[in-house]
Amino acid sequence: MKVPLLDLQEQNQTLRPAVDAAISKILDSNGFILGAEVEALENELASYCRTEFAVGCASGTDALLLALMALDVNSGDEVITTPYSFFATVSAVTRLGATPVFVDIEPKTYNLNVSQIEAKITEKTKAIQPVHLFGQCAAMDDLRKISEKYNIPVVEDAAQAIGAEENDKRAGAMSEIGCFSFYPSKNLGGMGDGGFMTTDDEALANKLKALRVHGAEKRYYHRWVGINSRLDALQAAILRVKLPYLDSWSDKRKANADIYQKLFIDAGLNEQITLPFEHDCGRHIYNQFVVRVPDKRDELKQFLAESDIGSDIYYPVSLHLQECFAYLGYREKDFPESEKASRETLALPIFPELIFDQQKYVVKKISEFFNL
Ligand SMILES: *Cc1c(COP(=O)(O)O)cnc(C)c1O
Repeated sequence: MKVPLLDLQEQNQTLRPAVDAAISKILDSNGFILGAEVEALENELASYCRTEFAVGCASGTDALLLALMALDVNSGDEVITTPYSFFATVSAVTRLGATPVFVDIEPKTYNLNVSQIEAKITEKTKAIQPVHLFGQCAAMDDLRKISEKYNIPVVEDAAQAIGAEENDKRAGAMSEIGCFSFYPSKNLGGMGDGGFMTTDDEALANKLKALRVHGAEKRYYHRWVGINSRLDALQAAILRVKLPYLDSWSDKRKANADIYQKLFIDAGLNEQITLPFEHDCGRHIYNQFVVRVPDKRDELKQFLAESDIGSDIYYPVSLHLQECFAYLGYREKDFPESEKASRETLALPIFPELIFDQQKYVVKKISEFFNL
């Protein structure tokens, strides 16, 4: 048996006729950048995320950069965020000359530890940027209270969390700006790069729309220095075919997660493997099913690869220890939970089309590895 970490083949085959038709429509329309198709997608995304506005752009990385630009984050400013995330969370901050100020993560959810934020606030703090890692929201209720007390805006890195919820609010609807990615491995993936931002603030939405076209509100009249970060019509047309399926795919991922929970417990693996923790006040969309393997994580990954089972490490190096951020002066042991997670976590296959026999095979092989 073969169990890839992610297999888009079945999904793409099922959608093939609709995707082909959508692509043909764009070819005939002769309009490839932004335009009506992107606007239609933006409206559908705003309604899906339960926000007033959605603004398409070229990637999740750019969404983060544009969001911070829209909030006037500049050199000398500080942005409080997590060291345990994808690189772009932090590079968006440093690209603008601002300084990332890290707080450690909660070991159970891998999301930033909100109780550590207040101690890091200074006059220079310009934004707080939580990440909803692996598809589960950070503790946004508590975070909003801090944001309101100090009047500091929040940017959600919701790249892995489209449709995730906390108390009926969706990711991207709990802050000034939410940032999303259409990278193919996300729950709503394009067939290429893409991203978008959400907001309830009309002025911010208009600024984001200008910043993605070189800061021009009117063509050739530049109010700001923006960037070129447009979503293209082909991606929008393809994403409009996929969006109606998103909730059923995310529900399938969650159902697969529940099956794993049962299989791992039945196999008596709860000492060797720490299973994902779910808040009881929200919806986890399981962009990744990440287990903690305190002992022999790398050996297990190798053993699974030899058994044709895909797995991956998100993320092997905590961001405060990346070579390019050495100038920030952080050291090993500064964020012990983040560093520990980078040594212990392993993502297992969780995609919607995964079948029960494949999940049984994964758990059986892990039992074999631990000689159970
Ligand atoms: C995928 C991802 C991004 C970046 O998105 P791209 O579209 O690949 O640029 C940013 N942050 C997180 C947490 C991500 O998972």
